Amino acid sequence: MLKNELDVTLHKAENLKEKPDQNQLGFGKHFTDHMLTMRWDKEHGWHDAEIRPYGNFSLDPAAMVLHYSQEIFEGLKAYRGADDSVLLFRPMDNLNRFNDSAVRMCMPRIPADKVLQAMKGLIYLDRDWIPRTEGASLYIRPAMIASEAALGVRPANEYLFFVICCPVGAYYAEGFSPTKIYVEDEYVRAVQGGVGNVKTGGNYAASIKAHTTSQKKGYTQVLWLDAVERNYIEEVGTSNIFFVINNELVTPPLGGTILPGITRDTVLQLAADWGIPAAERRITIDEVIAAAEDGSLTEAFGSGTAAVISPIGEFGYKGNTIMINNGKTGPLAQHFFDGIQQVQRGAAPAPHDWIVRVK
Ligand SMILES: *Cc1c(COP(=O)(O)O)cnc(C)c1O
Repeated sequence: MLKNELDVTLHKAENLKEKPDQNQLGFGKHFTDHMLTMRWDKEHGWHDAEIRPYGNFSLDPAAMVLHYSQEIFEGLKAYRGADDSVLLFRPMDNLNRFNDSAVRMCMPRIPADKVLQAMKGLIYLDRDWIPRTEGASLYIRPAMIASEAALGVRPANEYLFFVICCPVGAYYAEGFSPTKIYVEDEYVRAVQGGVGNVKTGGNYAASIKAHTTSQKKGYTQVLWLDAVERNYIEEVGTSNIFFVINNELVTPPLGGTILPGITRDTVLQLAADWGIPAAERRITIDEVIAAAEDGSLTEAFGSGTAAVISPIGEFGYKGNTIMINNGKTGPLAQHFFDGIQQVQRGAAPAPHDWIVRVK
């Protein structure tokens, strides 16, 4: 066993599944032939790392995750390059963020370097699942759950870590099109001192009500405002948010209530590389409305792994509509979308060692 490798047992699937139609992939509907699993308990630490056939877990009904939601997850993608290479984008940033989430949720940290090696093994084994269609990729979902069978609110003594993979289609199947966003002034996502900066399941369960309510009103996502004054902008759905005001990129700072997005950080680093002025500062919905009215606000877009960049065409707030760039995709949103995608797919050189090659 190499020093930086986990002792991973490999059990190959006897029968491989039929692969889905590459043009009808959607998101999160099909899963590959194998998964990575690993267990933790107080006595042994991390052990029993396995790459094994994708399949059900056996969980005791008292498993603590089912009652108290001690759970964290991550989301990243493997891309197929033009030369058939398989590339990961900033995977260590995802695994390091996973460990930050683990600390906040009183869960054990994973050995990130070793897990990356094992994850590469899993992706290589299931590489035929990585779509070749334009804009498609393999979504990778690492997660950890409290698996100890016990009732009572405290950190569990046993955990299960796993990684599953699913081929996903291009986010913009019908082209890069701006979304309608509902500015949520009733429900809130996170408070100071809470877990808004952690990828933990409970945050998403708590957001479903606002999301479905906004969808019934004809919107794609909600824009979250701060929980105290309902005025400061936080993020949009499960993406971070950027505005272009007086030709400057503006995004809310990481103050503990928003998720420290890797795409957000990528946009900020590329803006610095490309000489585009950018500021991380607090911004209110009142400022956004005023800037839209006087014409200084020219673009708004979301950033996240699933869509990379998601242009915003309009906001709905307290019964009013705020149009952004006449509902069309702006030049900076397009520039970041193209630039990041090219790096992710190996079509442009990767700055800052952002690409890890699987094959
Ligand atoms: C995952 C996530 C993001 C985006 O993070 P990326 O690392 O860019 O994918 C933003 N907000 C929330 C709430 C998230 O869960």
